[in-house]
Amino acid sequence: MTSDLRDLYQDVILDHGKKPRNSRVIEGATFTQPAFNPLCGDKGTLYLSMDPGGDKIVDAAYVGAGCSISTASASIMTDFVKGKTREEALATFGLFHDMITAPPDRASHRPVQDLGKLSVFSGVAEFPARVKCATLAWHALKAALTEAPGPAPTPVSTE
Ligand code: ZN
Repeated sequence: MTSDLRDLYQDVILDHGKKPRNSRVIEGATFTQPAFNPLCGDKGTLYLSMDPGGDKIVDAAYVGAGCSISTASASIMTDFVKGKTREEALATFGLFHDMITAPPDRASHRPVQDLGKLSVFSGVAEFPARVKCATLAWHALKAALTEAPGPAPTPVSTE
């Protein structure tokens, strides 16, 4: 990765960390999933609205408090998953997780362009301690999409 690209990625993360998109409560959301990363103290709640068939994400929002990586990741993720099906969203989490947990010598061989804006987090692979920050909102997404909706979901923890 060139240092210019790294700087650009850093700027995008800082921008989303300071001004998170979709930071609001969705009234009547299909899924309301709390999430907590005890390693860093990041916590928040993910809201998802599904289409009437229950397969497509029509709206996504995240309200939370935490470090800029967790905030930026939730911001970019909620933008990214809108309009995606359950299957597409979960498959993307798999690719995203692979990207940020790749050993540094393999990170440059990843097809990061397939992940669009999510590739700004590829540098996290060099900071294993931040992986849980970058995946917190994604773990909440996975928990929401793989569990039946209920009135009192168990908070997802990265531990
Ligand atoms: Zn964090």
